[in-house]
Amino acid sequence: MRTEMLIGGEWTAGGGPAFTSVNPATGEVLAELREATEADVDAAVQAADSAFASDEWGGLLPAARAKLLLRAADLLEEHAAEIARLETQDQGQPLPISIGFSLPNAVEHLRYYAGWATKITGITAPLSVPDIDYRTRREPLGVCGLIAPWNFPLMILMWKLAPALAAGNTVVIKSAEQTPLSTLRLAGLFEEAGIPAGVVNVVTGGPDVGRALVRHPQVKKIAFTGSTEVGREIGAECGRNLKKVSLELGGKAPSIIAADADLDAVLQGNLLGGLINAGQSCAAYTRFYVDARRHDEFAEKLSGAAGTLRLGNGLDPQTQLGPLVSAEQVDQAERYVTIGKQEGADLLTGGQRPDGELSSGFFYEPTVFAGVQQDMRIAREEIFGPVLTVLPYDSPDELTALANDTGYGLAAAIWSRDISMVNRLAQEVKAGTVWINMHQALDAAAPWGGMKSSGIGREMGWDAIEAYTDVKSIWTHLT
Ligand code: NAD
Repeated sequence: MRTEMLIGGEWTAGGGPAFTSVNPATGEVLAELREATEADVDAAVQAADSAFASDEWGGLLPAARAKLLLRAADLLEEHAAEIARLETQDQGQPLPISIGFSLPNAVEHLRYYAGWATKITGITAPLSVPDIDYRTRREPLGVCGLIAPWNFPLMILMWKLAPALAAGNTVVIKSAEQTPLSTLRLAGLFEEAGIPAGVVNVVTGGPDVGRALVRHPQVKKIAFTGSTEVGREIGAECGRNLKKVSLELGGKAPSIIAADADLDAVLQGNLLGGLINAGQSCAAYTRFYVDARRHDEFAEKLSGAAGTLRLGNGLDPQTQLGPLVSAEQVDQAERYVTIGKQEGADLLTGGQRPDGELSSGFFYEPTVFAGVQQDMRIAREEIFGPVLTVLPYDSPDELTALANDTGYGLAAAIWSRDISMVNRLAQEVKAGTVWINMHQALDAAAPWGGMKSSGIGREMGWDAIEAYTDVKSIWTHLT
């Protein structure tokens, strides 16, 4: 497959230093790539700007745009097995996740937004001004910069790419430096689908490439998924230049397990909720609030189940938990485990790197701390690894305050049959998404994004169309 960048329909090697993409399960180098320079980023933006103004894209009727996106979705579906394998090798997620979740979600997004391309309507409004015909139009923004993270590289990119193109924009994508391969393969499929040159451009490299894209004056919008720290920096830069921005940032999702919950029945949902993608999910359930009378029982069941998960290469069909994406992420998990022990939390399982044949990859054992207190750092900071914390609560009246006692507000889960309690909490919890009696699920039709430090704006649903369009008011005097 091509590992250069795609700029204006040409596969071009970046002018910057070389970097490698590594298989986190083995530590082996998968591909050597080059960083984009500022001139490369500029060339990509210019190509996107020209494509935006072109008859081949800018002048395309909505139905033709929809057809191209549907063709790209078909191609992605046809190549799903190959690309899922690539994602597993580059990112680490076990094959059942890449083939059963990441790829179908990306295909579904493309089809869903292909449907929107012909339905981006304005309104008419009854103005209290005489002799006026009034309407609004929704127009594309122009060149959008899409900056993707490494945890679900293809799927999270598609949450941006599909609505951006459906609305008629052009894009410059900056994939995460750890996981560029599925994005480059996707760009090849978009070419094959007949999306005109310059509509989808990809630049590779790290933070400096992202910064050059954010600063570029011809980029009209930045859509970013990543850490809260980088999100703040990007938001500030976009603010200075009055550039549109949407930010999907970190999380520390509470999972509230009430006294009446059937612990055996809720165990699998919480295990998956906490450890999907080895905990490298912004919506991972990482703070389990359990009624104090059932805290020990739940902690024991959770640690028992976590402790028996089979770690391994994501390509191995026996694997239940893959590696972390990089040595840095393993160091981060380890650092927080040390902090948790120092804080006096009870380490029930895990807390170390596996040895033997896995030691050449970036693995960390699933780890459960019990008896965790609200003020401990392991209960407050995003670890982004397989480290779970169980906290006792005394009364349901405390739950809203406990769940909301965090800077983050991305997601929350509640497990109970008490509909009054559940619905009150669902209203009071400050989170963009609340799942009731279920592990995380996503759908292109359900708006996704965070409150507080978890972000600004929403992806998915009509909200994403709004995020990639501007509204124009058109007044006509009738006399
Ligand atoms: P990161 O912020 O380090 O990097 C994300 C992307 O931004 C990468 O492509 C990176 O190269 C680029 N980047 C880094 N610094 C930049 C800068 N100054 N200017 C422009 N671009 C820059 O995040 P990460 O470590 O890749 O991802 C993990 C984080 O993402 C976690 O905090 C996680 O919670 C969050 N996340 C959020 C969601 C969500 O939907 N809210 C989804 C997935 C991940």
